[in-house]
Amino acid sequence: MLLFIRSDLTQLKAYTPHTEDSTFAQEPMAWDHLDTNESPFDLPEELKQKLAWIYQKEIQANRYPDGGHLALKQAIADYVNESAGLPGNAFNSTHVSIGNGSDELIRSLLIATCLQGEGSILVAEPTFSMYAILARTLGIPVLAVERSPLNFEMDWQAAQTLISESSPPIRVVFVVHPNSPTGNALTLAEISWLKSLPEEILVVIDEAYFEFSQKTLVSEVLQRPNWVILRTFSKAFRLAAHRVGYAIAHPELTAVLEKVRLPYNLPAFTQVAALTALTRRQELFQSISAILEQREHLIQSLRQHATLTVWPSAANFVYVRLNQESANHDLRLEEIHHQLKSRGTLIRHISGGLRITIGCPDENARLLARLDAILKHFLEAGLSE
Ligand SMILES: *Cc1c(COP(=O)(O)O)cnc(C)c1O
Repeated sequence: MLLFIRSDLTQLKAYTPHTEDSTFAQEPMAWDHLDTNESPFDLPEELKQKLAWIYQKEIQANRYPDGGHLALKQAIADYVNESAGLPGNAFNSTHVSIGNGSDELIRSLLIATCLQGEGSILVAEPTFSMYAILARTLGIPVLAVERSPLNFEMDWQAAQTLISESSPPIRVVFVVHPNSPTGNALTLAEISWLKSLPEEILVVIDEAYFEFSQKTLVSEVLQRPNWVILRTFSKAFRLAAHRVGYAIAHPELTAVLEKVRLPYNLPAFTQVAALTALTRRQELFQSISAILEQREHLIQSLRQHATLTVWPSAANFVYVRLNQESANHDLRLEEIHHQLKSRGTLIRHISGGLRITIGCPDENARLLARLDAILKHFLEAGLSE
């Protein structure tokens, strides 16, 4: 017991994806990683060699990196304009702020809006867990509404009520487009509710899966100073190892994000990797259509199980629940999760369901075969179906 630690922190648990498992640390390559929504494809060999060459010849390890990220910001602005079909000058470097993963930007946004008792945040559960985790580490209250159990649309009427009642006031609403873990994009009703929010509330649209969904609200930022779009290089860009995320927002907001971030937050090699990935995006994105085909194959195959409900997905993962609600529902999901793990496939058990990242074809085939065997065993044991 450390007597100098803030009392509310003793209640929180650290975010540890797999480290609790000692076997994991020993042979990370042996697992099928269908649990963290990365791309299953490493960078092409030739591109890694190019990066290695750049590290050797062009990066001075003894020098701090570019602390203003100007070249990368400009390249990101160009990509955002192009990918949203906007004119080349719609967004420029002043609309971009870059973080050590979008997690850093989420924390910066929280620091800039809610700290010192000035605000609380609103999320619709289930959703990406880092909003609530990071808020709690800063002592920021988290208010949550539910989603429809049918299509996972958020209960925005309940959200509206919370907004009118809460103290400290709700300063930020976090939504993911499409949501994780449930895979649904924002509906027109949700979007029009978000548009109705007053300027005292920051609307954060997390588009981590944009390259898979091709749905973006980024052009709204041009008219709405209280909207920010978050994106990442950790998913379709195949750069999770490098930790790069970015925000697109009004220049006044990016200026504040720059004030609160740590200096030199992006290592030199990471900046080079992100710039190179942007330059070579056509080639890197060729893997997206294969992932989307595999997603449809996985959904069709999972739907063969009468025990499972499988939702459509606009991202690179699928979400399933067991059909029968029962008292030991979560125990059963935990059992499936555990049995898959003991056979070598990692998935996530979240919020009364299972989230399965689309892997490469071999990994998906193994997942389906292993799940078949586990569900068959359940059936024989009379536990389900
Ligand atoms: C994966 C993911 C991110 C990415 O976070 P990074 O810190 O950039 O790796 C952000 N938001 C959501 C909803 C995600 O699923």
